[in-house]
Amino acid sequence: MHITRLDLFQVPYHLSQRDYAWSGGHSVRGFLSSILKITTDDGLTGFSEVCPLGSGYMEAFAAGLPGGIAELGPQLVGQDPTRIRAINALMDNRLGGHNYVKSAIDIACWDILGKATGQPIATLLGGRYEDFHLYRAISQGTPDQMAEDVLKYRGEGYRRFQLKVGSNPDDDIARIQAVLSVVQPGDVVIADANTGWLPHQALRVVHALRDRDYYVEQPCATLAECLAVRARTPQPMVLDEVITGAAALIQAYEQHAMDVVNIKISRVGGLTKARQVRDLCETLGIAMTLEDSWGGDVTTAAIAHLAGSTRPELLFSSTDFNSYNDTSLAPDAPRRQNGRLRVPTGPGLGITVDEAKLGQPVASIG
Ligand code: MG
Repeated sequence: MHITRLDLFQVPYHLSQRDYAWSGGHSVRGFLSSILKITTDDGLTGFSEVCPLGSGYMEAFAAGLPGGIAELGPQLVGQDPTRIRAINALMDNRLGGHNYVKSAIDIACWDILGKATGQPIATLLGGRYEDFHLYRAISQGTPDQMAEDVLKYRGEGYRRFQLKVGSNPDDDIARIQAVLSVVQPGDVVIADANTGWLPHQALRVVHALRDRDYYVEQPCATLAECLAVRARTPQPMVLDEVITGAAALIQAYEQHAMDVVNIKISRVGGLTKARQVRDLCETLGIAMTLEDSWGGDVTTAAIAHLAGSTRPELLFSSTDFNSYNDTSLAPDAPRRQNGRLRVPTGPGLGITVDEAKLGQPVASIG
């Protein structure tokens, strides 16, 4: 089998709820999501999705996808998509960085491998579990707004809430306090600064809330800054933005920098590399949030296969991105039920992309 064609589509999403706001004054009302379709000579097709959280969140932006696919696509035509490690080696050889572009290609190849073998990706990643629990991201807002959001989503079955903080420390202290006052025993609260605090600001927040029960996620931009905060923080710490791959994980682990990591599929370069980091975390006893930067039905399915093949005791949480947007591209994509997501059972991603909803491709190779 070999790749004959790559088509990239871009679809606008709009948030179902209020604008999504996080540290640094970032705010988005919607997204431009990229859907890649890879076609093979024997008629199998594989799909993937990459949806950066705007352009300012990480080293990824929607307009970079067409250029990346145009660069790598011609090298991939003629390659066997089921030889995924070789595909990854080729991509790394031909294009430096741009993990989000490689993620699109890698995931679509996993979809093809699953369809070619008749197995769900979760089975190929180590074995499928039935379902797993989710967290809900709570957009930055006033303390009352955020507490209201937590109660609303708690009513929908979520028990883990990731609060978007990382702005003025006084405001953030009030946000965290407001949410802690409405959650119930067994709920988990994560204060995610998304790199937004300087160490002195982070220390003010964690010292003001020293005796409260919550997690701190990625307080500052660099590992060194996060370590400075962690040394004086009793709360468990999650690292996210600095975990760019296996090497970064090992470096952070050696410095006892975290208790939990957040692995985003497109940040590390796809399912192949996310699995490597996942397996390393399992070995090292580091719990994980497994997710991506954003997405819809296709990303949610990819997350489901990764999270749904991870030992449950190591899976801290995961995300159903397709419940945040107004657009469904795959009617049979997994959908949240009572705060949990079922792992698809069909071959590959186990979903059927409605190609009529993709429009015309923005880039085609082959
Ligand atoms: Mg985070």
